[in-house]
Amino acid sequence: MTAVLGGGLSGLSAAYYALENPKLAPVILLEASSRLGGWVQSKKSPSGAVFELGPRTIRPRGDTGQNTLNLIDDLKLGTKLRPIAVNDPAASNKFIYTNNKLHPLPISLKPLFRTCPPLNEPLISTIWREIRQPSIINKDESLYSFIERRVGSHIADYIISPMICGICAGDAKEISVKFLMPSLFRAEQLHGSIFRGMIHERLFDQMKPKKPEPWEIVPEKTDKSIMSSAERAQKSNWAIWALDGGMEQLPQALASKLYHKHLHIRLGIDCKEIFFKPEGVEVRAGDQSKTYERVVSSIPAKKLARLVENQHPDLANELGAIPSVTVAVVNLEFAGHVLPIDAFGFLVPPKEELPILGVIFDSCIIKQESTVLTVMMGGAWFDKYFGNSENLSTINDHLLSVALDQVKSILNIKATPISSNVSILKDCIPQYIVGHNERVDRIKNYILENKLPLYLCGASYDGIGVNDVIFSAKKAVSSIA
Ligand SMILES: Cc1cc2nc3c(=O)[nH]c(=O)nc-3n(C[C@H](O)[C@H](O)[C@H](O)COP(=O)(O)OP(=O)(O)OC[C@H]3O[C@@H](n4cnc5c(N)ncnc54)[C@H](O)[C@@H]3O)c2cc1C
Repeated sequence: MTAVLGGGLSGLSAAYYALENPKLAPVILLEASSRLGGWVQSKKSPSGAVFELGPRTIRPRGDTGQNTLNLIDDLKLGTKLRPIAVNDPAASNKFIYTNNKLHPLPISLKPLFRTCPPLNEPLISTIWREIRQPSIINKDESLYSFIERRVGSHIADYIISPMICGICAGDAKEISVKFLMPSLFRAEQLHGSIFRGMIHERLFDQMKPKKPEPWEIVPEKTDKSIMSSAERAQKSNWAIWALDGGMEQLPQALASKLYHKHLHIRLGIDCKEIFFKPEGVEVRAGDQSKTYERVVSSIPAKKLARLVENQHPDLANELGAIPSVTVAVVNLEFAGHVLPIDAFGFLVPPKEELPILGVIFDSCIIKQESTVLTVMMGGAWFDKYFGNSENLSTINDHLLSVALDQVKSILNIKATPISSNVSILKDCIPQYIVGHNERVDRIKNYILENKLPLYLCGASYDGIGVNDVIFSAKKAVSSIA
């Protein structure tokens, strides 16, 4: 008997993949709250517009992207897919707000020989300097210091730092380059320079045949005449995709598949301790306890730390050292079309010292009658701008007015929103700080050496994106087999 802890996307995916292996049955999923889906949550405004509180767009590329699209097909959600092609403004137009102006993120060849803000020199000068920069052998380093050292502080401040706000609401001065941008890190370690490494990878590494891991093997299609979503994504050059009607349909469809297959799902079970015994793992929740052969934990590492600390304090110390940040999400809806540009949105460099991380133009991604925007706030700077994130009950009105002021002034919007929603997502995004890879290795080695029937998945370990957490569930379950 297998217990899956947590009913977010990774826990639901772990249960889904566990069903494919009869040796793991019966499978039970235990979720602390009264709903499934974790941070994936979509709300409807009174006019019917979709407000996403969590994820809204997903990348189709790579093994993890294809894996999610295969899941979408299996859950019969293919008709809800809204692909956004590489050349669509909602994918290609991303802005950085600096010096009171929105500047397009340099993605074309235009800035190669010209200075295009937010850059402060033509890219060719940056590349030339980087190639001649001495390299150092390093175990890991913060993304900020890596980029500052190799290409200068301007790119670290005005490109990389806002990008990290967009990826994980984090501070580039703390986030690990080895974990979050492994190809850049590897390029310096193997080839002495980012650009030399990139050229080498383009020319040689992509030609090397790669043997797929067991979890990367995609089952043969039974009906070859129907194109899968992953094939469509590749053929039509999708940059990202969204789900018409809201991303929450993904965990809902997963849950209904699990119910259909008679998997036991128990809501309101807040696990307080797991205790390893010779015959299995005892899971204690309030006055209830039950022993399972194994546990797949998808809950945040910090929470799992509390569950194991009595019996395995060293493991708890490592798990508890994976930090997370709180994000305030403010969704705004305006009547008609009020945006001055068609784009994905914009990011704000922390150096600008503004109380927002960035704004996503949801109604450009999925066209709607009204204008829908999402303002992301807080993250690594939550306490700095909004006070202690432990005491959050009274600040919703303040967050709404700060978000609205920023949006109106940056985008020159005069209208008043017809609806809005403020959510404070406590500890919602794990931070992959310097040394994250080594910490996760130590955690996994501890579990192996102590032969604990404990398998880990979810955003705390292998990556923040929806693709990452689904894939981490697949890997965790396949490692049991
Ligand atoms: C604001 C925001 C925007 C995002 N945008 C994107 C995006 O656009 N694209 C993208 O790819 N990704 C995005 N992400 C990331 C993605 O949504 C998350 O990484 C993913 O949803 C995490 O899923 P999870 O199952 O690992 O964790 P969670 O969603 O945290 O699920 C864990 C579950 O465990 C339960 N739990 C906790 N403790 C216990 C316990 N003791 N006992 C039982 N149950 C417990 C919780 O209640 C929760 O339901 C975003 C995330 C956030 C917060």
